[in-house]
Amino acid sequence: MPQITVTLVDRTGAAASASHESFKMGIMQELVKILDDLIHSDSEATVINTRWVNQSPASGDQDVVIHWVPDRDQSYLRKKWPSVQIAQNASGHTYIDKDMTGSEFYRRPRLQTPEAYAKIAAHEAMHNITRLGNQKLHGQRGLAGDGAGTPHLPVTDNDKTLVQAGMQSGLPNQLL
Ligand SMILES: [Zn+2]
Repeated sequence: MPQITVTLVDRTGAAASASHESFKMGIMQELVKILDDLIHSDSEATVINTRWVNQSPASGDQDVVIHWVPDRDQSYLRKKWPSVQIAQNASGHTYIDKDMTGSEFYRRPRLQTPEAYAKIAAHEAMHNITRLGNQKLHGQRGLAGDGAGTPHLPVTDNDKTLVQAGMQSGLPNQLL
């Protein structure tokens, strides 16, 4: 049975607390729901694994890695690719290089619910898996995003088609 492992890396620097951990668990649970919709196909079941870690996962130990960072000024992508352009109002960003892809989403400005963060993380996962940048992905509606790049639920059939094509052609190397 095919599997995909999505690793979330907590780079927020937030002090460890029960409320921070439970918020993170909420994000992960909501993300699993969205990914279940996104990756579900009638012909083949895919096992979706998700986890939180606090530092770079081992290479080859994961499929998709999404970093949670304090805000765009403290972009983790920009540490690797200093020239990355991130829109002022972005909630997350994915950079697709020739041989590596990096995805991140931002803790601030603060979103109200774990689901709101999960939707952003799932949208960045879509950029990552499909290797489609803003110009190609945005405007297709659904989780792919409206013309402004804002993702919307529920997941659409078009979203599923894009992600399945991406998974079939193989996932990119990940920024760890
Ligand atoms: Zn986007």
